[in-house]
Amino acid sequence: MTPLTTAIACLLAITLCYAAVCAASPLGDCRKCRGFGYALKTDRKGRLRRGKHCRRCDGHGKRVRIGRRLYNAARRTYHATTTPATPAPKGHHPWR
Ligand SMILES: [Zn+2]
Repeated sequence: MTPLTTAIACLLAITLCYAAVCAASPLGDCRKCRGFGYALKTDRKGRLRRGKHCRRCDGHGKRVRIGRRLYNAARRTYHATTTPATPAPKGHHPWR
């Protein structure tokens, strides 16, 4: 294999693995609080204490992965463009 096809195969494998991760686990840990939902601080004796509530994830400790967010946006766009805005009334047959 040439180096170009090797590079393409590696990038494709990485992309497919990331898509699999996004499908299996759409939520990742919040990068600011590392999944705790709050900051960690130490008291005067050096023991760990619960700190401020995380504003980025609002205390959930989770975030939606970028790949999943892209998938959700694409699905929302597809749904918005393919389904009628208002459902057709019952008994309405446009093919007759
Ligand atoms: Zn957070």
